[in-house]
Amino acid sequence: MRILVVSTPIGRLGSGRGGGVELTLTSLVAGLQERGHQLTVLAGEGSRLAPACATARLWTCPGVDQPSWQHQGRDAAITIPDQGLLPRLWQRALAEQQHFDVLLNLAYDWLPLWLTPQGQTPLFHLVSMGSVAAVMDAAIAEIADWNQGRLAFHSHAQAADFNLPAPPLVVGNGFDLAAYSFCADPEPLLGWVGRIAPEKGLEDAAAVAAQLGQRLAIWGLVEDPAYAAAVEASVPAGCLDWRGFLPTAQLQAELGRCRVLINTPKWNEAYGNVVVEAMACGVPVVAYRRGGPGELVEPGVNGLLVPADNVAALAAAVLESATIDRSSCRLWAETHASRAAFAERIERWLLAELAPGGPGVGLGGGR
Ligand code: UDP
Repeated sequence: MRILVVSTPIGRLGSGRGGGVELTLTSLVAGLQERGHQLTVLAGEGSRLAPACATARLWTCPGVDQPSWQHQGRDAAITIPDQGLLPRLWQRALAEQQHFDVLLNLAYDWLPLWLTPQGQTPLFHLVSMGSVAAVMDAAIAEIADWNQGRLAFHSHAQAADFNLPAPPLVVGNGFDLAAYSFCADPEPLLGWVGRIAPEKGLEDAAAVAAQLGQRLAIWGLVEDPAYAAAVEASVPAGCLDWRGFLPTAQLQAELGRCRVLINTPKWNEAYGNVVVEAMACGVPVVAYRRGGPGELVEPGVNGLLVPADNVAALAAAVLESATIDRSSCRLWAETHASRAAFAERIERWLLAELAPGGPGVGLGGGR
């Protein structure tokens, strides 16, 4: 297939501002190319493709970023800024659509959903977040009603947020596991990875580190500096070790030395890339039983789960996690979250939907 992947209109690829979508895009593009498909990526100006995608074509557009949905109110209206990147990406995608068999949207935005029934080339969406805004819920429900085959989700917990007429297609995610080294001998260090923003709940991991008197290393882009400062002020000085946003190669080398990863989502995390990245390095994950991490962590095998927002239980589980076999964490990632298996699931989805009389027929008749 000739596939045009349309990236997020937030940040440029490589900046980290697109969150987990950036790594998902790398896996998806590299994995589909390995399966013989031709990939073109359309993204914001200044984007760089990861080395794994070096043979894919990259098109870029200038434009002003979209405001992120997760930082607006549930009842926020759709906003498209002047000189917005989002409409420019879609103007280009529609202008080029006749050269592709598939348009695959990775951005969580109203415009590409709304365009879905209008385009000539079939447009698919890998939905990257759970429910965060009423207008987005409505747009997703409307497409699902028209043809749910155009939608895929990362986890069952994420998909359950939406009003879907049929069981969701859940594709998980995939990782180039060769890029993550197994570390058998960790340091006495706790780890936390994510965008530094309130929905990620860093304050709870910080509280656990302070309670246990153990250092917490933190990797990620500071999206909300005031929030980061408040978390730093909430614990004794020296408890938190801020390591910044690192490219995957460096991140995994440092992350692998942690005894445990603490994952504390305050929202219905769609998947939780960092959970699997830690496991790939042999790091067990202690997480709240919420969203994607609640599905990825198999208690006793690759980590432990505790009731959401229960900091005391989190601290107890962090101590208990020392009993988890690090090699079983790595094995879990290899078995469940390889890039090759993810690409195969995506390919199966697209081919099934493109086939004449494919499974989308009958789900609202939107073909
Ligand atoms: N990440 C990174 N370097 C860092 C910290 C994070 O590349 O120093 C990446 C990480 O690999 C992951 C993404 O940031 O792919 C965070 O994705 P996740 O799915 O955990 O959360 P999201 O940001 O999408 O809500």
